Amino acid sequence: MTTTKALRGRAISFRGNPFEQPAETCLVHHDDALVIIEGGVIEACGPYAELRHTLPDGVVPIEYPDAIICAGFIDAHVHYPQLQMIGAYGSQLLEWLETYTFVAEQQFADAAHAGRVAGLFMRELLRAGTTTAMVYCTVHPQSVDAFFAEAERFNARMIAGKVLMDRNAPDALLDSAQRGYDESKALIARWHGRGRQHYCVTPRFAPTSTEAQLDAAGALLKEHDGLFLQTHLCENPSEIAWVRELFPARASYLDVYAHAGLVGRRSMFGHAVHMHEQDFCTCHQAGAALAHCPTSNLFLGSGLFRLFDAVDPKRPVKVALGTDVGAGTSLSQLQSLNEAYKVAALTDRKLNATQAFYLATLGGAEALYLDDRLGKLEPGYDADLCILDTRATPLLGFRSAYCDSIEDLLFVLMTLGDDRAVRATYVAGECVYDRDRAGEAFRYPAATSPHREDLPCPIA
Ligand SMILES: [Zn+2]
Repeated sequence: MTTTKALRGRAISFRGNPFEQPAETCLVHHDDALVIIEGGVIEACGPYAELRHTLPDGVVPIEYPDAIICAGFIDAHVHYPQLQMIGAYGSQLLEWLETYTFVAEQQFADAAHAGRVAGLFMRELLRAGTTTAMVYCTVHPQSVDAFFAEAERFNARMIAGKVLMDRNAPDALLDSAQRGYDESKALIARWHGRGRQHYCVTPRFAPTSTEAQLDAAGALLKEHDGLFLQTHLCENPSEIAWVRELFPARASYLDVYAHAGLVGRRSMFGHAVHMHEQDFCTCHQAGAALAHCPTSNLFLGSGLFRLFDAVDPKRPVKVALGTDVGAGTSLSQLQSLNEAYKVAALTDRKLNATQAFYLATLGGAEALYLDDRLGKLEPGYDADLCILDTRATPLLGFRSAYCDSIEDLLFVLMTLGDDRAVRATYVAGECVYDRDRAGEAFRYPAATSPHREDLPCPIA
């Protein structure tokens, strides 16, 4: 019996970087495409008329009329424990951390609580069409176990790590340089490279780690191949002033991290709103990436990320798109793009739809050095897909009818769209989320779930 699967609908992909080349040469678009999937991987993608003869006997394509098939979204900066405090009123970064974040994160000492929230979080990611995310857990190792366990049940490619904090936070959330190192090492042994899971060394940000802890994070990166690094950088002026006080010997905020060996390939710095030219040059030379988190930067009043300065072809820095929930206000990357367009507009630039969708897919994959397997509809790529419904709401349907190009349609989708516009999400070729599947929108793939009754479905 064949295990081949095929999807039919409109499809988009990329063959270049639209921040470096004309957008129209970078977008690949088929009005009527066939995506053929075998063993969790894309076997072929192209015009239906050309490919339908290659389908094995008996394989009937799943039809998605009025929809666009694209690579699953990549969210390069998000905190799953903050789901319970998304939309918290009234403060800027440092006060917001103390008032809301550090209170919520203490509850993740309880593994059962972590498991429930991880279950909800994974479902909300998939509902938003996000198939890969770079995720902050809490200081508690059990919060990481809970997240990876749920990611593994869905067989989703996820990157996550235990937060390291050894000062300037409530006692209940502190580790130490040594304990943070030991716990991270044990988690790396448990999860890094297991199935589709990747470990990410995760010092929260310079103010909550001593120099000894940042050095220990650098040591972890040196000792293990292929690890990721995530932290926050230059989000808010008060935060930057505090870092200057705490690390007077360093040339800049970024230099604090560089000094500890944390700036390199697979390093992802969240926000980078207030950057100097020298910081951009350092990131470019090191191959480090920035996560642009527009809904968060607007919500906390942090400032306007200079996207087009960051990706300047004279020394391009890799940029991915992040939701930064819970400071971000939506897990939908369509909503992140909606706000990214406005942030660009306020810096006198225009983010076109091709650039926008590239940021949320292939651009994110390139920033994570996963672009050999994620971000495109091409043979050999992971079949992590998002099906966008261009008629998801009455207004979207009405407006879409007046679009006369794929670029128009994509732009309207990112302006009006959110999780309602995600018709289905595929992870490694399995439909793990189907908006319209009665009673059971989410489904673990059969391969990870031989005894489905044993698996908790945490929150309805
Ligand atoms: Zn963050």
